[in-house]
Amino acid sequence: ASPLLEVENVKKYFPIRGGLFRRPAGAIRAVDGVSFTLRAGETFGLVGESGSGKSTLGRLIVRLHDPTDGTIRFRGADIGRLKPAQFRPYRKHIQMIFQDPYASLNPRMTVGALIEEPLMLHTDLGKKERRDEVRRLLAIVGLPPDAANRYPHEFSGGQRQRIGIARAISIRPSLVIADEPVSALDVSIQAQIINLMMDLQEAFGLTYLFIAHDLSVVKHISDRVGVLYLGHLVELADKKSLFTDPLHPYTQALLAAVPVPDPKRRRERILLSGEIPSAVRPPSGCVFHPRCPKAMDVCRSVRPPLREVGPGHAVACHLLDVQRASNTA
Ligand code: SF4
Ligand code: MG
Repeated sequence: ASPLLEVENVKKYFPIRGGLFRRPAGAIRAVDGVSFTLRAGETFGLVGESGSGKSTLGRLIVRLHDPTDGTIRFRGADIGRLKPAQFRPYRKHIQMIFQDPYASLNPRMTVGALIEEPLMLHTDLGKKERRDEVRRLLAIVGLPPDAANRYPHEFSGGQRQRIGIARAISIRPSLVIADEPVSALDVSIQAQIINLMMDLQEAFGLTYLFIAHDLSVVKHISDRVGVLYLGHLVELADKKSLFTDPLHPYTQALLAAVPVPDPKRRRERILLSGEIPSAVRPPSGCVFHPRCPKAMDVCRSVRPPLREVGPGHAVACHLLDVQRASNTA
Protein backbone atom coordinates (compact mmCIF):
# COMPACT_ATOMS: atom_id res chain seq x y z
CA ALA A 1 0.00 0.00 0.00
CA SER A 2 1.23 3.51 -0.71
CA PRO A 3 2.00 5.61 2.37
CA LEU A 4 -0.65 7.86 3.91
CA LEU A 5 1.82 10.71 4.27
CA GLU A 6 5.14 11.33 2.54
CA VAL A 7 7.47 14.03 3.76
CA GLU A 8 10.32 14.53 1.32
CA ASN A 9 13.37 16.68 1.95
CA VAL A 10 11.25 19.28 3.73
CA LYS A 11 12.87 22.48 4.91
CA LYS A 12 11.51 25.37 6.89
CA TYR A 13 13.68 28.42 7.36
CA PHE A 14 12.26 31.35 9.32
CA PRO A 15 13.87 34.58 8.16
CA ILE A 16 15.10 36.82 10.93
CA ARG A 17 15.41 40.56 10.63
CA GLY A 18 17.57 42.79 12.73
CA GLY A 19 18.45 46.37 13.49
CA LEU A 20 16.52 49.57 13.15
CA PHE A 21 15.57 48.89 9.54
CA ARG A 22 14.76 45.24 10.18
CA ARG A 23 17.11 44.11 7.44
CA PRO A 24 17.30 40.39 6.65
CA ALA A 25 19.84 38.92 9.09
CA GLY A 26 19.87 35.23 8.28
CA ALA A 27 17.35 32.51 9.03
CA ILE A 28 16.45 29.99 11.68
CA ARG A 29 16.78 26.60 10.02
CA ALA A 30 14.01 24.96 12.04
CA VAL A 31 13.63 21.98 9.70
CA ASP A 32 16.56 21.32 7.39
CA GLY A 33 15.84 18.53 4.91
CA VAL A 34 13.66 15.93 6.62
CA SER A 35 12.18 12.86 4.89
CA PHE A 36 9.93 10.13 6.28
CA THR A 37 6.67 8.38 5.49
CA LEU A 38 3.65 7.39 7.56
CA ARG A 39 1.77 4.18 6.84
CA ALA A 40 -1.96 4.06 7.45
CA GLY A 41 -2.80 2.86 10.95
CA GLU A 42 0.64 3.27 12.51
CA THR A 43 1.97 5.54 15.22
CA PHE A 44 5.17 7.31 14.35
CA GLY A 45 6.89 8.84 17.35
CA LEU A 46 8.91 11.95 16.58
CA VAL A 47 11.33 12.80 19.35
CA GLY A 48 13.65 15.74 19.90
CA GLU A 49 14.70 18.43 22.33
CA SER A 50 13.05 21.84 22.18
CA GLY A 51 14.48 23.60 19.17
CA SER A 52 14.83 20.35 17.20
CA GLY A 53 12.09 21.39 14.78
CA LYS A 54 9.56 18.75 15.78
CA SER A 55 6.63 21.12 16.31
CA THR A 56 7.47 23.03 13.14
CA LEU A 57 7.34 19.75 11.24
CA GLY A 58 3.90 18.97 12.68
CA ARG A 59 2.68 22.45 11.81
CA LEU A 60 3.99 22.15 8.25
CA ILE A 61 1.87 19.03 7.73
CA VAL A 62 -1.33 20.74 8.91
CA ARG A 63 -0.46 23.74 6.74
CA LEU A 64 0.05 26.19 9.60
CA HIS A 65 3.40 26.95 7.90
CA ASP A 66 4.54 26.95 4.28
CA PRO A 67 7.62 24.83 3.67
CA THR A 68 10.71 26.64 2.35
CA ASP A 69 11.50 23.59 0.25
CA GLY A 70 10.52 19.96 -0.20
CA THR A 71 7.30 18.03 -0.73
CA ILE A 72 4.48 16.89 1.55
CA ARG A 73 2.08 14.37 0.04
CA PHE A 74 -1.12 13.11 1.64
CA ARG A 75 -2.56 10.03 -0.11
CA GLY A 76 -0.37 10.93 -3.07
CA ALA A 77 -1.66 14.53 -3.34
CA ASP A 78 0.86 17.33 -2.98
CA ILE A 79 -0.52 19.39 -0.08
CA GLY A 80 2.63 21.25 0.91
CA ARG A 81 1.83 24.50 -0.85
CA LEU A 82 -1.95 24.56 -1.02
CA LYS A 83 -3.65 27.86 -0.20
CA PRO A 84 -5.97 27.72 2.85
CA ALA A 85 -9.07 27.35 0.66
CA GLN A 86 -7.46 24.56 -1.36
CA PHE A 87 -6.40 22.79 1.83
CA ARG A 88 -9.92 22.91 3.30
CA PRO A 89 -11.01 19.51 1.91
CA TYR A 90 -7.93 17.93 3.55
CA ARG A 91 -8.49 19.63 6.90
CA LYS A 92 -11.10 17.06 7.90
CA HIS A 93 -8.64 14.23 7.21
CA ILE A 94 -5.71 15.78 9.07
CA GLN A 95 -6.33 17.03 12.58
CA MET A 96 -4.06 18.26 15.33
CA ILE A 97 -3.94 17.76 19.09
CA PHE A 98 -1.97 20.41 20.97
CA GLN A 99 0.24 20.33 24.03
CA ASP A 100 -1.87 22.85 25.87
CA PRO A 101 -5.50 22.16 25.00
CA TYR A 102 -6.54 25.10 27.18
CA ALA A 103 -4.71 27.57 24.97
CA SER A 104 -6.32 26.05 21.89
CA LEU A 105 -9.88 26.00 23.28
CA ASN A 106 -11.97 29.19 23.15
CA PRO A 107 -12.72 29.86 26.85
CA ARG A 108 -16.07 31.51 26.05
CA MET A 109 -17.46 28.45 24.25
CA THR A 110 -19.08 25.57 26.10
CA VAL A 111 -17.45 22.19 25.73
CA GLY A 112 -20.47 21.07 23.71
CA ALA A 113 -20.10 23.98 21.30
CA LEU A 114 -16.35 23.37 21.02
CA ILE A 115 -16.84 19.75 20.00
CA GLU A 116 -19.75 20.64 17.73
CA GLU A 117 -17.80 23.30 15.84
CA PRO A 118 -15.81 20.97 13.54
CA LEU A 119 -19.02 19.03 12.85
CA MET A 120 -20.66 22.26 11.69
CA LEU A 121 -17.73 23.19 9.50
CA HIS A 122 -17.00 19.82 7.93
CA THR A 123 -20.18 17.71 7.92
CA ASP A 124 -23.79 17.98 6.72
CA LEU A 125 -25.21 16.83 10.05
CA GLY A 126 -28.29 18.70 11.31
CA LYS A 127 -28.49 20.31 14.73
CA LYS A 128 -30.07 17.33 16.49
CA GLU A 129 -27.61 14.85 14.92
CA ARG A 130 -24.69 17.06 15.92
CA ARG A 131 -25.89 17.24 19.54
CA ASP A 132 -26.26 13.44 19.61
CA GLU A 133 -22.80 13.09 18.15
CA VAL A 134 -21.34 15.43 20.79
CA ARG A 135 -22.90 13.29 23.53
CA ARG A 136 -21.46 10.16 21.93
CA LEU A 137 -18.01 11.73 21.62
CA LEU A 138 -18.03 12.84 25.28
CA ALA A 139 -18.73 9.25 26.30
CA ILE A 140 -16.02 7.93 23.96
CA VAL A 141 -13.34 10.16 25.52
CA GLY A 142 -14.56 9.46 29.05
CA LEU A 143 -16.28 12.71 29.98
CA PRO A 144 -19.73 12.98 31.66
CA PRO A 145 -22.71 14.00 29.47
CA ASP A 146 -23.21 17.25 31.42
CA ALA A 147 -19.70 18.36 30.34
CA ALA A 148 -21.38 19.72 27.20
CA ASN A 149 -22.91 22.63 29.13
CA ARG A 150 -19.78 23.57 31.02
CA TYR A 151 -16.70 25.64 30.11
CA PRO A 152 -13.08 24.49 29.59
CA HIS A 153 -11.79 26.22 32.76
CA GLU A 154 -14.02 23.97 34.87
CA PHE A 155 -11.94 20.94 33.87
CA SER A 156 -8.54 19.55 34.87
CA GLY A 157 -5.60 19.41 32.44
CA GLY A 158 -6.25 15.76 31.61
CA GLN A 159 -9.98 16.38 31.03
CA ARG A 160 -9.17 19.35 28.81
CA GLN A 161 -6.93 17.11 26.73
CA ARG A 162 -9.91 14.73 26.42
CA ILE A 163 -11.95 17.68 25.11
CA GLY A 164 -9.19 18.49 22.61
CA ILE A 165 -9.12 14.87 21.50
CA ALA A 166 -12.93 14.72 21.12
CA ARG A 167 -12.74 17.82 18.92
CA ALA A 168 -9.94 16.36 16.81
CA ILE A 169 -11.62 13.00 16.20
CA SER A 170 -15.18 14.37 15.83
CA ILE A 171 -14.91 14.53 12.04
CA ARG A 172 -13.20 11.14 11.72
CA PRO A 173 -9.78 12.24 10.47
CA SER A 174 -7.37 9.61 9.18
CA LEU A 175 -4.23 11.40 10.38
CA VAL A 176 -3.80 13.02 13.77
CA ILE A 177 -0.74 15.14 14.52
CA ALA A 178 -0.33 15.11 18.29
CA ASP A 179 2.17 17.79 19.36
CA GLU A 180 3.37 16.83 22.84
CA PRO A 181 -0.18 15.92 23.90
CA VAL A 182 0.85 14.74 27.36
CA SER A 183 3.89 16.89 28.16
CA ALA A 184 1.91 19.29 30.35
CA LEU A 185 0.18 16.51 32.32
CA ASP A 186 1.10 14.61 35.50
CA VAL A 187 2.73 11.25 34.83
CA SER A 188 -0.30 9.29 36.09
CA ILE A 189 -2.60 11.25 33.76
CA GLN A 190 -0.17 10.85 30.83
CA ALA A 191 -0.70 7.09 30.82
CA GLN A 192 -4.51 7.54 30.81
CA ILE A 193 -4.39 9.88 27.82
CA ILE A 194 -1.96 7.64 25.91
CA ASN A 195 -4.19 4.62 26.56
CA LEU A 196 -7.23 6.59 25.39
CA MET A 197 -5.37 7.55 22.22
CA MET A 198 -4.46 3.91 21.58
CA ASP A 199 -8.10 2.82 22.07
CA LEU A 200 -9.28 5.51 19.66
CA GLN A 201 -6.66 4.49 17.11
CA GLU A 202 -8.03 0.97 17.22
CA ALA A 203 -11.67 2.06 17.06
CA PHE A 204 -11.32 4.67 14.31
CA GLY A 205 -8.31 3.41 12.35
CA LEU A 206 -6.29 6.54 13.09
CA THR A 207 -2.71 7.18 12.05
CA TYR A 208 -0.67 9.19 14.56
CA LEU A 209 2.32 11.42 14.29
CA PHE A 210 3.11 11.57 18.00
CA ILE A 211 5.56 14.36 18.86
CA ALA A 212 7.43 14.26 22.17
CA HIS A 213 10.65 15.52 23.72
CA ASP A 214 11.23 12.32 25.60
CA LEU A 215 11.71 8.77 24.32
CA SER A 216 9.98 7.24 27.34
CA VAL A 217 6.71 8.94 26.34
CA VAL A 218 6.66 7.45 22.83
CA LYS A 219 7.91 4.01 23.88
CA HIS A 220 4.50 2.58 24.69
CA ILE A 221 2.48 4.03 21.83
CA SER A 222 4.85 4.07 18.82
CA ASP A 223 5.37 1.50 16.08
CA ARG A 224 8.29 3.44 14.65
CA VAL A 225 10.36 6.28 16.03
CA GLY A 226 12.27 9.12 14.40
CA VAL A 227 14.86 11.16 16.29
CA LEU A 228 15.26 14.82 15.33
CA TYR A 229 18.26 16.95 16.14
CA LEU A 230 18.57 20.59 15.11
CA GLY A 231 16.22 20.19 12.17
CA HIS A 232 17.73 16.90 10.98
CA LEU A 233 16.38 13.38 11.28
CA VAL A 234 19.37 11.51 12.72
CA GLU A 235 17.84 8.06 13.25
CA LEU A 236 14.70 6.28 12.14
CA ALA A 237 13.73 2.75 13.16
CA ASP A 238 10.96 0.48 14.33
CA LYS A 239 10.50 0.87 18.06
CA LYS A 240 12.25 -2.36 19.03
CA SER A 241 15.40 -1.67 17.01
CA LEU A 242 15.58 1.89 18.24
CA PHE A 243 15.33 0.94 21.90
CA THR A 244 17.50 -2.19 21.78
CA ASP A 245 20.04 -1.20 19.12
CA PRO A 246 20.29 2.60 18.95
CA LEU A 247 23.07 3.52 16.52
CA HIS A 248 23.30 7.30 16.57
CA PRO A 249 25.28 8.74 19.50
CA TYR A 250 22.47 11.25 20.08
CA THR A 251 19.84 8.50 20.33
CA GLN A 252 22.17 6.62 22.66
CA ALA A 253 22.46 9.72 24.83
CA LEU A 254 18.69 10.19 24.90
CA LEU A 255 18.21 6.56 25.90
CA ALA A 256 20.83 6.84 28.61
CA ALA A 257 18.70 9.62 30.08
CA VAL A 258 15.61 7.37 30.24
CA PRO A 259 15.40 5.84 33.70
CA VAL A 260 15.77 2.05 33.59
CA PRO A 261 14.10 0.19 36.47
CA ASP A 262 16.75 -2.56 36.68
CA PRO A 263 20.13 -1.00 37.58
CA LYS A 264 22.01 -4.00 36.15
CA ARG A 265 20.58 -3.19 32.75
CA ARG A 266 21.56 0.47 33.00
CA ARG A 267 23.35 1.58 29.88
CA GLU A 268 26.71 3.15 29.72
CA ARG A 269 25.89 6.77 30.35
CA ILE A 270 26.73 9.15 27.59
CA LEU A 271 26.47 12.64 28.91
CA LEU A 272 25.68 15.38 26.50
CA SER A 273 27.88 18.37 26.96
CA GLY A 274 26.57 21.80 26.15
CA GLU A 275 23.28 23.20 24.99
CA ILE A 276 21.61 22.49 21.68
CA PRO A 277 23.40 24.90 19.28
CA SER A 278 21.68 27.72 17.46
CA ALA A 279 19.69 26.85 14.38
CA VAL A 280 20.71 30.22 12.92
CA ARG A 281 24.35 29.20 12.56
CA PRO A 282 24.15 25.41 12.70
CA PRO A 283 27.47 23.56 13.14
CA SER A 284 29.32 22.50 10.00
CA GLY A 285 29.40 18.84 8.98
CA CYS A 286 27.36 16.70 11.35
CA VAL A 287 25.18 19.15 13.29
CA PHE A 288 25.68 17.00 16.39
CA HIS A 289 29.50 17.11 16.33
CA PRO A 290 30.05 19.79 19.02
CA ARG A 291 28.22 17.60 21.54
CA CYS A 292 29.16 14.17 20.24
CA PRO A 293 31.46 12.06 22.44
CA LYS A 294 32.53 10.06 19.36
CA ALA A 295 33.15 12.92 16.92
CA MET A 296 35.94 12.41 14.37
CA ASP A 297 37.67 14.85 12.02
CA VAL A 298 35.34 14.03 9.14
CA CYS A 299 32.34 14.95 11.32
CA ARG A 300 33.37 18.60 11.40
CA SER A 301 33.34 18.99 7.61
CA VAL A 302 31.01 16.42 6.01
CA ARG A 303 27.31 16.13 6.77
CA PRO A 304 26.39 12.44 7.12
CA PRO A 305 23.33 11.48 5.05
CA LEU A 306 20.52 9.36 6.54
CA ARG A 307 21.30 5.84 5.31
CA GLU A 308 19.57 2.50 5.68
CA VAL A 309 21.52 0.07 7.88
CA GLY A 310 18.93 -2.67 8.23
CA PRO A 311 15.28 -3.25 7.34
CA GLY A 312 13.53 0.01 8.21
CA HIS A 313 16.49 1.24 10.28
CA ALA A 314 18.29 4.34 9.05
CA VAL A 315 20.94 6.47 10.68
CA ALA A 316 22.90 9.62 9.80
CA CYS A 317 26.37 9.10 11.26
CA HIS A 318 29.91 8.63 9.93
CA LEU A 319 30.58 5.89 12.47
CA LEU A 320 28.69 3.64 10.10
CA ASP A 321 31.57 3.86 7.58
CA VAL A 322 34.12 3.21 10.29
CA GLN A 323 32.24 0.07 11.35
CA ARG A 324 31.82 -1.09 7.75
CA ALA A 325 35.51 -0.53 7.04
CA SER A 326 36.54 -2.53 10.10
CA ASN A 327 34.10 -5.33 9.18
CA THR A 328 35.62 -5.71 5.72
CA ALA A 329 39.22 -5.25 6.89
FE1 SF4 B 1 29.06 11.90 16.18
FE2 SF4 B 1 30.33 12.07 13.88
FE3 SF4 B 1 28.28 10.43 14.10
FE4 SF4 B 1 27.93 13.06 14.07
S1 SF4 B 1 28.69 11.81 12.41
S2 SF4 B 1 26.97 11.62 15.45
S3 SF4 B 1 29.69 13.77 15.19
S4 SF4 B 1 30.23 10.29 15.20
MG1 MG C 1 7.13 22.18 20.69
